[in-house]
Amino acid sequence: MSAPYPWLETPWQRLLTTRARPAQALLLAGPRGVGKGALARAWAQALLCETPLANGAACCECPACHWVNAGTHPDFRLVTLQEKTTKEGETRMATAIEVDQAREAVDFVQLSTYRAGFRVVLVNPADTLNLASANALLKVLEEPPLNTVFVLVSDQPRRLLPTIRSRCTRLDIGLPPLDLAAQWLAGQGVDDAVNLLALSGGTPLDAQRWVDSGELDERRSVLEGLARLGQLDPVMLGDRWKAVSPQTWHNVAYKWLGDLLAVKLQGSVRFNRDFADVLAQLGKKADLAKLLALAKVQAIEGRTLAHPLNRSLQLQAWLIQYRHVFD
Ligand SMILES: [Zn+2]
Repeated sequence: MSAPYPWLETPWQRLLTTRARPAQALLLAGPRGVGKGALARAWAQALLCETPLANGAACCECPACHWVNAGTHPDFRLVTLQEKTTKEGETRMATAIEVDQAREAVDFVQLSTYRAGFRVVLVNPADTLNLASANALLKVLEEPPLNTVFVLVSDQPRRLLPTIRSRCTRLDIGLPPLDLAAQWLAGQGVDDAVNLLALSGGTPLDAQRWVDSGELDERRSVLEGLARLGQLDPVMLGDRWKAVSPQTWHNVAYKWLGDLLAVKLQGSVRFNRDFADVLAQLGKKADLAKLLALAKVQAIEGRTLAHPLNRSLQLQAWLIQYRHVFD
């Protein structure tokens, strides 16, 4: 079994060399969209495999490997965000890993293992542990039971409790080299890989997701609206864009504002290279203080991306503020 993605070969080989004595608490940290989750799963499988290869990688053929792939290995637990049903009967993804989940993982590691090998608990995204769940986990991270390995995955390791961070052996996964990422994307049948990577901030898995999910079309619709300042109608656009997922809207608008700031401050575009000309014109007109204020609002919104009660009203308010940036 090779690394899940070609740019992960170095950290993957490094992990494999530790298979005989793995870190009992490992923190995989780095930007989103670079494959940390896949690396964590591959590592869990390597640890649980009962007939590993000479280099320590999983054989992909033994019963343990099959159970890991089916998500049924009795010595493996995934602790992650769960769907919840609201009072109104809507299903939503929780924004935090709850204390009950952490306690369940703590109980799990106190049991004896089923297969007499390692036992692995994967926590992803670890930065969504709330204070209570982090504290519950901390107890076992301080003194993990024998043969127990915790793997924590995080895009925002600074949001972890310092006491959790200090218990972990940290492995940082950086952005892949541009040529390697572009080559991989091209191999997945993606056209214009280099421009797409600029758009995704250099993260190949985000770039691929944009292609697969049709988000590129939504992006174009939003950016064309933001670019045509003279015809910007907040009511009409607010109504049209309420169908765009809040996450997509947030990413697109955030990068657009980032580019306006980059044009204003450094004279160059970072993400939306296909809109470089119009960004250069708008950047000249923009008021820096107002632009910074709007970018700040956008950053705060990104932390609480729940469905607001009235999406089009919220978009309208944003668009009115956006138009004022260029008054
Ligand atoms: Zn195996």
